[in-house]
Amino acid sequence: MKKTLKQLAAWLNEEVPAFGDTLVSGISIDTRTIQQGDLFVPFRGEQANGHKFVLQAFEKGAGASLWQKDEPNPPAGVPLLFVDDPEKALQHMARAYRSEHKAKFIGITGSNGKTSTKDILAGTLAPFFKVQKTIGNFNNQLGLPITLLQLDEDTDVAVLEMGMSGFGEIEFLTKLARPHITVITNIGEAHMQDLGSRAGIAKAKFEIIQGMQDGGVLFYDGDEPLLQELVDQEENLNAQAFGLEPGDLLFAENIEATANGSSFTTHGVIEGDFFISVLGKHQVKNTLVAMLIAQKLGLNNDQIRESLKQVALTDMRMQQVYGTNGALFINDAYNAAPTSVKAAIQFVATTTIRPEKWLVLGDMLELGVNEQSFHEDLSLDIDVEEIAYVCLYGQRMACLYEVLKERFDKEHLLYVEDDYAPIIEKLQLANEQSIVLLKGSRGMKLENILKAFTH
Ligand code: ATP
Ligand code: MG
Repeated sequence: MKKTLKQLAAWLNEEVPAFGDTLVSGISIDTRTIQQGDLFVPFRGEQANGHKFVLQAFEKGAGASLWQKDEPNPPAGVPLLFVDDPEKALQHMARAYRSEHKAKFIGITGSNGKTSTKDILAGTLAPFFKVQKTIGNFNNQLGLPITLLQLDEDTDVAVLEMGMSGFGEIEFLTKLARPHITVITNIGEAHMQDLGSRAGIAKAKFEIIQGMQDGGVLFYDGDEPLLQELVDQEENLNAQAFGLEPGDLLFAENIEATANGSSFTTHGVIEGDFFISVLGKHQVKNTLVAMLIAQKLGLNNDQIRESLKQVALTDMRMQQVYGTNGALFINDAYNAAPTSVKAAIQFVATTTIRPEKWLVLGDMLELGVNEQSFHEDLSLDIDVEEIAYVCLYGQRMACLYEVLKERFDKEHLLYVEDDYAPIIEKLQLANEQSIVLLKGSRGMKLENILKAFTH
C-alpha cells in the first residue's frame, strides 16, 4: 500500500489531518518490527496501551500513526490521523484498499492445514505470478487487515489464511477479503468447546462462501460428509471437491513417502504423477487444492509438476530434521488436534523410510468437555505391531497412557506430566533406524525435545 495520510482520512471519513501529504507505505502494530514509512496503529489492550509507543514508532521510521480520539496528550509535530477506534479503522482501511486492488484473492479456512495449504499454494504459484500471502499465522480480525494493507499494488495473487474460534468470525473475514476462490481444507475437532459439534465447526467454516465474489469457486474436502451436506444445500454455489476418494474433481492415489517427500498419482481434472517435498497424506490433500487453483489460474500440468518440486513448507509442520542421535525427526510440534495427530501417526506407522517408529505425543489443548475421550481415542491408531516406542507428555495424556499400558511393556512406553528430560533420555536409544514423530499443541512446546538433538 502507498497512500497519503489525506487519502486514508478520506477512506475513514475523518478530517484531513496536519501533514496530510505524508506518504505511508505499509502498516505496523509493533514497533519491534516496524518498517520505514509504515503507518503505526496503536491499540489499547488489556496489557499495554499502544499509544505509549507512538513516539518510539516515529523514531524507528514510522511515516505516520493513528491516534484514538479520546486518548489524552497526542504528541505534536508528527503526522497523526485521529480516529474513534483504531481496530475498526484498520479494518475499514483494509476493506477500502482491498476493493481497489486488482489481485486474485484466495481465502483459505479449515480446522487443519490452512497454513500448509497457503504455503504450498503460494510456493506453487510463485514462479509464475507475484504472490503475497498471510505472514505466519496472521489469520484473524487484526491479522487479515494487516495482511491486506501490506499487499503491494502490483501483486497478482493474495493467498489469505482465515482462522476462527466461533461463529461469525469467518463471515467477517471473508466479507473483508472478498475472495475469488475459497478453500475449506478439512473439518476437525479444534474449537469444539465454542461450536458444540463437528457439524457446528463445518457450518462456521462454511461461512467463507458468504463473502465470495460472484462467479467464485469453493474447493472443499470431498472426504468430509458434513461439508458435502452443506454444499448440497446451496443452489447457486460453484463447489468442487478434492480428496483421496474417486469421484472428486481431483483425487490422489498411490501416495508414497520417500526420504524427502511424497510421490502420488492424480485423477480427475489433472491426470499424472507428481512429487512434492512434504510428508503425509494430509499434505498431499493440501497439495491437491494448490494444483486445482494453479490450474484455474492458467498453469498447465507440466508447469504444475515442475513447480511443485521446488515448494518448501514452514517450520514445524511435518518438517524433517536429522537428529544427532541419528534419528529422523518429523517435527510436527506446531500444533495438534485429533485429526492432525491421527494423520501424522498414520504417516509414521505406514512409512517405509525408517523401520523403527517412535511417537512423542503432547497434550491436545482446547478440546472442551470431551477432551479425555479424544486423547484415549488416539489408542485406536497406535498399533504395537507398527510402533516401537511411545512417549507421552502432559496431564491430558495420562488417560492414553492407561490404555496403552495394556499393550506396550514399560521399556517401550513412557509417560511424563511436565518434564522433557526423561523423554530426551529415552530418545538416546533412537538411531539411524528410527523415525520419531514430535506432535503436540503449541502450548506443549515439544520442539524443546528436538533441541537436545540438534546443534
Ligand atoms: P492453525 O489453526 O494453528 O493456524 P492451520 O490450519 O494453519 O493451523 P497447519 O499449521 O497447516 O494448520 O497444520 C497444523 C497441523 O495439521 C500440522 O500438524 C499438519 O501436519 C496437520 N495438517 C495439515 N493439513 C492437514 C489436513 N488436511 N488434515 C489433517 N491434518 C492436517
Ligand atoms: Mg495456521
